[in-house]
Amino acid sequence: MVDILESPPEFKKLRLPEEGEKVTVKDGKLVVSDEPIIVYIEGDGIGPQIVSQARAVMDAAIEKAYGGKRRIVWWEAYAGEKAMELYGELLPEDTVLAIRYTVLALKGPLTTPVGTGFRSLNVALRKKLDLYANIRPVQYFGQPAPHCHADKVDFVIFRENTEDLYAGIEWTYDSPEAEKLRKFLREELGVEIRSDAGIGIKPISIFGTKRLMRKAMRYAIENKRSPVTIMHKGNIMKYTEGAFRNWAYEVATEEFREYVVTEQELWEQYNGEMPEGKILVNDRIADNMLQQIITRPWDYDIIVAPNVNGDYISDEANALVGGIGMAAGMNAGDYMALAEPVHGTAPKYAGKDVANPTAEILSGCLLLEYMGWKEASALIKDAIRKAIAEKKVTQDLARHMPGVQPLKASEYTQVLIDHIKSA
Ligand code: NAP
Repeated sequence: MVDILESPPEFKKLRLPEEGEKVTVKDGKLVVSDEPIIVYIEGDGIGPQIVSQARAVMDAAIEKAYGGKRRIVWWEAYAGEKAMELYGELLPEDTVLAIRYTVLALKGPLTTPVGTGFRSLNVALRKKLDLYANIRPVQYFGQPAPHCHADKVDFVIFRENTEDLYAGIEWTYDSPEAEKLRKFLREELGVEIRSDAGIGIKPISIFGTKRLMRKAMRYAIENKRSPVTIMHKGNIMKYTEGAFRNWAYEVATEEFREYVVTEQELWEQYNGEMPEGKILVNDRIADNMLQQIITRPWDYDIIVAPNVNGDYISDEANALVGGIGMAAGMNAGDYMALAEPVHGTAPKYAGKDVANPTAEILSGCLLLEYMGWKEASALIKDAIRKAIAEKKVTQDLARHMPGVQPLKASEYTQVLIDHIKSA
């Protein structure tokens, strides 16, 4: 676990804002003042455009919701190209320390060149801050969507962010490490692996699973959401994904007993009638689940999944409601949270004022909700719904709406701000 910094560390180049207060934690809960300092990282490509548009929309919503009593004191930290210019490195320690101090951050996408040496900065940031839960809400705002029941799609996916086959513990087939492992498996465990097989390791732990499930359960309780569905392929991968299922149920039934009815209990004790105010906890096998969110999206709400399944299902779920320009996300640890859109830097749109800022704005909504500023988030979501209903959209949506002239991203942002102001 990475600790939150209680007092300001020594920064190389950053200067703490003179106004505002840091977010703190008391008795296991976030304490957010009326003027919290929040870090933002513009990122690369379309990042600077969409982050500044997201901040403008968030500021307008906060002003409207709280009549000037609350505001965010934004504090810029650097990663990617801008950090390279300022620090000569892509992810300066200043940035990591700034987030550990302020606890909350909004980030734009960062470039990861294909086929060159450096690792994804996004992955590095998540690791350095131990942001173990990737939270992805998937909601429909009226945008053009391929699914005939897109309006029934409303999920929040909690994807484990640190373990599983994505932990990066793997060796190419012809490496000495793979050879050593094959030898160990053959001689010590009697398992034969082909000599031309690459090898990856799939760790899934009690610790990693339980902390994710706790986060999902707390979210479900706070937001009155049900069911919480554990997605796994435990029928085949019994001691990793099967264990994930069992440990997740343990959290639900041992730590959140008064809130929970499991699917088994539903039928054994309640004759299939869900008791008022309780959260149903069930589980589904991954391949079935990937079908069911298409055939019966209304049956699902909170989805808790290991890393790889979580990756697949969140992209599939976003596709149901029309894709990437609207897909928001947040990476969270026990308290720290870094909100960022699912999409990347879309380099061909950089600097052209055409990229859809909605995913970044909705990531900002996640941050606002996490802070408890739900009224501001609701204003933003209403404004997005209204703009789409009026067909005032950016080119990525307009191209699926016959006869609709696209707005520039800045014009679309202004439409949202106007709706917020007149709400
Ligand atoms: P991408 O940047 O997400 O862009 C792929 C396509 O998605 C774009 O060409 C565009 O589609 C559409 N798109 C993405 N964002 C959009 C927006 N806001 N508005 C409208 N359309 C949008 O994916 P990529 O080209 O694979 O990756 C580019 C770079 O981003 C890579 O360096 C990658 O590593 C990085 N990346 C970073 C993050 C992150 O920071 N978390 C995440 C993913 C990727 P059309 O061409 O159809 O218009």
